[in-house]
Parts: sequence; structure tokens; C-alpha cells
Amino acid sequence: MIKEKVLIVEDELGIRNFIATILNANDYDAITASSGADAMSMVTSHCPDVLLLDLGLPDMDGMEIVRAVRSWSNVPIVVISARNHERDKVEALDAGADDYITKPFGSAELLARIRAAIRHTRTQLPNSMIANSGQFRTGDMVIDYDKHCVFVKGENVKLTQGEYRIVSLLGKYAGKVLTYDFIIKELWGPKAKSDNQILRVNMANIRRKIEENPADPKYIFTEMGVGYRMAEGE
Ligand code: CA
Repeated sequence: MIKEKVLIVEDELGIRNFIATILNANDYDAITASSGADAMSMVTSHCPDVLLLDLGLPDMDGMEIVRAVRSWSNVPIVVISARNHERDKVEALDAGADDYITKPFGSAELLARIRAAIRHTRTQLPNSMIANSGQFRTGDMVIDYDKHCVFVKGENVKLTQGEYRIVSLLGKYAGKVLTYDFIIKELWGPKAKSDNQILRVNMANIRRKIEENPADPKYIFTEMGVGYRMAEGE
């Protein structure tokens, strides 16, 4: 079972710890940022499965983060804010947030909103990969489409949901080169910006987890300037 990674962006330590405690106790992997700048860099470097975002941050307005992240990513964004005017909620949702929770809130509501945001994003996936079942095997690597896990030499390599989607897509088209643009559109939707940077960061993390020598990969190959190719299945 892969734990879903939730990035909590909140400048108030008490609230940040409160949310992190709830999430960790409910089988999520909580990571935290206390400023907008940290949040932006952590979205890229940690590829969270959900973003919980406070709007009132010391260095920038959370709305700017919603717009910036939404320009290249479909990660579910749940805004958490003390602002409870209807126009604030509408502005956040129009900018690309998936949901809006008003402070104060209870743990049951928070967990329900996170589950809904993840479910919503999954059912919007633009390809049939969620319907994939069975296993794909190449060398010592196995993609288990039923369990949503990747194993190398029998060990679960603990990919994030985003990393899993990339590996799973490449496995589905094993042996073929998938262009950066194709992968981005398949995973993050037709409106996603073709920015290869996020894909490169993800791939570096994937290789660190699945390849014995990330500099000389055996499973996922780079076609320079074009895209990636998964080794043929067995
Ligand atoms: Ca705040």
C-alpha cells in the first residue's frame, strides 16, 4: 500500500502540527511548508498527492500558489482558510483549487475532503490506466496494477502516486518511446503546460528508487530530447 503524500502549507505552527498529526495517524505521509516559497519548491521536489493550502502566508498570497501550481500540475489543491466570504471561495475554486475548507474545521471533515479530492482527480485521469490490471514484469521489476505498487527484487519501492503513474504509463507502452509531451498530457491532463522540469524531477526520484545504478538505468531509458522508454516486458 502506497501512502499518499500530503503537503501542508500553513504558517501557524499549532495548526500545522494539528493537521500533520491527524494525517499521520490516518495513514497519510504528511510533509509541511511554512511559507509560499517553501511550498512552491516542495511541490516540485516532493510531488505530493494532495496540497493543503492556507491562503494567508507571510511571504505570498496562497492564491498565487494555486495559480502557479495549476499552470503545470493537476495535483488536488484543498484550500484551508479563515476567509469565509463567498467571493474568496469562488476566487480560489476559479483559480483551480479543488475544494475549500473554512477554519475552524474538525478532523473528520478534513479527512473526508482529502479523500474526495483524491477520488475526484483519479476519476478524471484522461487515460484508461486505472482500469489496468494484472502485472507487468521486466527483469527484476514488477508493476502490480491491482495493488498500485512497484516491486524490485520482491521489495516494494514505495513510489509516490505521481511517480507510480509515470512508471505505470511507461509500463503500459513498454518498448515504445513516449514523448515528454505525451506523458505530461496523459498524466496531468490536456491543459497541462509542457514543462519537462517536473517530469525530470520525478524521473530522477523514480530512478533513485528502482534502478541499481540511476546513471546507467536498466528499466527506464532516456531518449535524449524526446522522452522515456520502458524496457520490453517478459
Ligand atoms: Ca496563515
